[in-house]
Amino acid sequence: MDEIERIKELRDTLNQYNYEYYVLDNPSVDDSVYDTLMQELMRLEQAHPEMYSATSPSQRVGGIVVDSFNKIVHKRAMLSLANAFNEDDLRDFDRKIKDVVGDHDIQYMCEMKIDGLGMALLYRGELVYAATRGDGVTGEDVTTNVITIKSIPSHIAENQEMEVRGEVFMSKKTLKELNEERAANHESTFANARNAAAGSIRQLDSSISAKRNLDAFWYYFVNASDFGIRYHSDALSKLDELGFKTNHERRICHGIDEVISYIAEYTEKRESLSYDIDGIVIKVDDMSLYDAIGYTAKTPRWAIAYKFPPEEVVTKLVDIIYTVGRTGKITPNAVLNPVRVAGSLVQRATLHNEDFVTEKHLRVGDDVVLRKAGDVIPEVVRSIPNPDNYGEEFKMIDVCPVCGTPLTKIDAMHFCLNPHCEARKIEGMIHFSSRDAMDINGMGERVVEQFFNQGFIRNIPDIYRLYEHRDEIIALDGWQSKSIDNLLYAIENSKKQSVDRLLFGLGIKEVGAKMSKTLARKYLNLDALMAATEEELMEIPDVGPVVASSLCSYFKDLINQQTIEELRNLGLNFDYLGAISSNSETPFSGKTVVLTGTLSSYGRKEATEILESLGAKVTSSVSKATDIVIAGVEAGSKLDKAHELNITVMDEEEFLSYLK
Ligand code: NAD
Repeated sequence: MDEIERIKELRDTLNQYNYEYYVLDNPSVDDSVYDTLMQELMRLEQAHPEMYSATSPSQRVGGIVVDSFNKIVHKRAMLSLANAFNEDDLRDFDRKIKDVVGDHDIQYMCEMKIDGLGMALLYRGELVYAATRGDGVTGEDVTTNVITIKSIPSHIAENQEMEVRGEVFMSKKTLKELNEERAANHESTFANARNAAAGSIRQLDSSISAKRNLDAFWYYFVNASDFGIRYHSDALSKLDELGFKTNHERRICHGIDEVISYIAEYTEKRESLSYDIDGIVIKVDDMSLYDAIGYTAKTPRWAIAYKFPPEEVVTKLVDIIYTVGRTGKITPNAVLNPVRVAGSLVQRATLHNEDFVTEKHLRVGDDVVLRKAGDVIPEVVRSIPNPDNYGEEFKMIDVCPVCGTPLTKIDAMHFCLNPHCEARKIEGMIHFSSRDAMDINGMGERVVEQFFNQGFIRNIPDIYRLYEHRDEIIALDGWQSKSIDNLLYAIENSKKQSVDRLLFGLGIKEVGAKMSKTLARKYLNLDALMAATEEELMEIPDVGPVVASSLCSYFKDLINQQTIEELRNLGLNFDYLGAISSNSETPFSGKTVVLTGTLSSYGRKEATEILESLGAKVTSSVSKATDIVIAGVEAGSKLDKAHELNITVMDEEEFLSYLK
């Protein structure tokens, strides 16, 4: 690819990353990846000045203003900061300033670079608004959310208009607790403190922000000169006086050498802080020099952000073990000497496939560099072989670790294609736990695969014996006592499900959710259904010879009989608990019903289930065969057609009155 094409590609990629980071608060790559691509773009743009574009991500503040908030035009543009990644970059920054203001030691203010969300506050005695940085020119009005942060004053002892800027953040402790709570509820966790703070502030419902226990540090008094203040350090003292929370790790450094020592000191101290920082911000202290030093379209030239290198640690690759997935896919996994990285203890990491391991020359016994990308998923970055003592050469296994069948390679992946492999039971257990079957919240694909590969569950009844492995599960990555207890509770609770769900969950060929309900309604419990002959089954409308034969052969199978007995002994309900339409007449018995528009009391699926339990057949289009149309709000052409064909129409109120 030529350099011009590469510039275009990088611009597209970085715009996409900006969108994920600033709008979705959910980046797909690590900041260090973003920063590397941005540096490449800046280098190429410098080599090709004819490619200059004011809309390139290198020229614009990355944020995007979303429409759900009112907009606020900033009194003075809210810029980003240029980055320094090493000592050379810092010295270069210092030299450029000296080029403007003269060759003497510059007085710099060094501050924590708080990993949060930039915020502007405007006061006229009272807080007038709080606005996000947005695209730098226009921000989002998040006043109602920001005011829930207890440390922010709602009024100050200064009536003259003043603008203060700072960073809203979430402490490490709060982030950890929030993520634990979300994990326990099987909600997605926040990748880092910045995303958590941004996601919490950019909520349309301020009661959610209020619960998130956010805090803020204020680091810039925008119009300090209106108050006769010349030095940034004095401006921060003034903010302290007025009751704003400023960060007291800050320090005046005389000359760039002192700045470099300060950075070394805080690279060490960083972990001990109660909040996350992603670097150190260095600012010229004398604000009267700012205009002379100047600005780019995106950043001031009088400040720079030194970025810490991403968190990487070295540990030993102790073993490579293999897990089998739902589809028979074989994944190599690194077993590591336990090591703390980005705040959590890591002992396993996926190695994806054979190519990943060979390309990185990973060998059991070697040291490897481990990184927690996005602070969440541990990733093996590279190996550090010891030339005096190489580890064992890697060789991918060629037979399934579960059933011993030779593996088949498809693209970069290896699969066990044996349809009788025990690992195929993973699929059955996922289906059994799924929402339309036993609805065991938290027992999704990843969890079932994990427990299968640990040997905790090998078949459906094992799900109900999972409590025996509680302590072992807590010791696994990603589990806490609260999350496993929630899952065990959901498993226990599922024992009470109506038998139609159990029947569907067993995964009998040709027996879907609807058929399971029809059968359960007819036979009322599993034993009666199991005793039915093929002929008897075929007497039920909707049950044809294929379904009848599939059911009978399933129940004849001794292994299936054993599974059912085990489930009975484990205390699962075998009775039908829904309404029984065949025995009691309802206004919907035997009627063909169409739902249209939106009902306020029930979702479409729920309403369908209720109607079916009352004996109705629910279809999707209106025809002469339709008996009743239930019309919610904004019902469209189906309602018109019902009127045209003279079909009975019920509104929601009427429908509900029948349910009563
Ligand atoms: P930045 O985060 O590098 O620096 C500017 C910001 O730092 C300011 O706007 C301010 O909010 C904050 N800040 C914190 N403490 C400060 C202090 N004491 N003084 C002054 N400012 C302080 O720049 P940015 O434009 O907000 O974001 C760009 C960075 O965000 C990138 O370098 C990258 O690391 C990350 N990013 C990542 C992705 C991704 O997909 N992973 C996408 C976009 C941006």
